[in-house]
Amino acid sequence: MRPLLLAALLATGACTVTQHPPLDDAALHRKQLTLDTHLDTPMHFARPGWDFGARHGHESDLVQVDLGRMDAGDLDGGFFVIYTAQGPLTPQGYADAKAFAFRRLGEIETTLAKFSSRIALATKAGDAARIDRAGKRFAYISIENSYPLGDDLSLLGEFYKRGVRLAGPVHFRDNQFADSATDKPRWNGLSPLGRKWVKEMNRLGMVIDASHASDAVLDQLIETSRTPILLSHSGPRATYDHPRNLDDDHIRKLAASGGAICMNSAYLGKSSTSPELGVLYDKSEQMAEMTPAEQASLIAQIRALERTQPSGQAADFETYMGGLLHLIQVAGVDHVCFGADWDGGGGVKDFEDIDALPKVTARLRAAGYSEVDLQKMWSGNVLRLLRIADERKGR
Ligand SMILES: [Zn+2]
Repeated sequence: MRPLLLAALLATGACTVTQHPPLDDAALHRKQLTLDTHLDTPMHFARPGWDFGARHGHESDLVQVDLGRMDAGDLDGGFFVIYTAQGPLTPQGYADAKAFAFRRLGEIETTLAKFSSRIALATKAGDAARIDRAGKRFAYISIENSYPLGDDLSLLGEFYKRGVRLAGPVHFRDNQFADSATDKPRWNGLSPLGRKWVKEMNRLGMVIDASHASDAVLDQLIETSRTPILLSHSGPRATYDHPRNLDDDHIRKLAASGGAICMNSAYLGKSSTSPELGVLYDKSEQMAEMTPAEQASLIAQIRALERTQPSGQAADFETYMGGLLHLIQVAGVDHVCFGADWDGGGGVKDFEDIDALPKVTARLRAAGYSEVDLQKMWSGNVLRLLRIADERKGR
């Protein structure tokens, strides 16, 4: 309440005011129900010697999310991703991708079962707050790249039954459903099968994720989906011109249609990774096949080289905040959320892992955003989209 208004109310005896000391930024962050829409951490779930329950540090591990850091209060939950790399559009390619995606889903289920006293599967919008109240972290499951479905849309129902509630049609390259933001147009948007995919997503009550899709695909998703579209990890093109980001017109169009865009921490600036480090980063994607000793040696090499050679993006926490504030200004607080692509390429200097999240709350508060605004962006907007998709299913 503003002091003048408070003085006026007291002078008129209009109310009795109990004054609580304002929460400090850290306490306000802990009070928020916080959610990130794109956690690529499951690719580490079956990695030999790695423990999701532990608390890892930047020097000794590449992973940015674990239960140790989630429990510390910085992140209450999020969408754990079944990511499948794009392969050939052939029966064999589809069969391999399907086997891979169901194996990854199984690894997520095994991990949730192993840590069932600390984290639980969430499938409904109301589950996040319910599980949080029980003192646990919550895990929604999502699909990045629907390539593993092949041409069999009934598989979406299989994933739904096992808890998946968010899926995107495409990744870095065009596939059987849609054009990618980072490939040449093949379908000029959605393919005929992609349009059926939209119908099936709506019928099941799953939220559609347009991150990685081309602008034409986003336009067609907004036109054809019965429920609002989410972009689980994307940013504004105005602050970094890249096809993975959205121009202001598309941000406005998305917001006008009721959707939401979750701020990414990748594609904030030009990649400046040295070739030598690039080779090691590529190697790190195979860490699940390495022994713990081989993993430790690779991590040590990477961290040592990062001290002397350029790595990652020419961007830092200030760049991230610049993009985020622009996004909020254009979309409005009802249409922004958080999806930093942790463990999938996200993270910049001074914003290296989920330990950095309270800084975002502090900066948004300093920029004038209220506790109510923050709650919408930290989880409310995403949960609204889940609720709408569920309410309109089956039609
Ligand atoms: Zn991605």
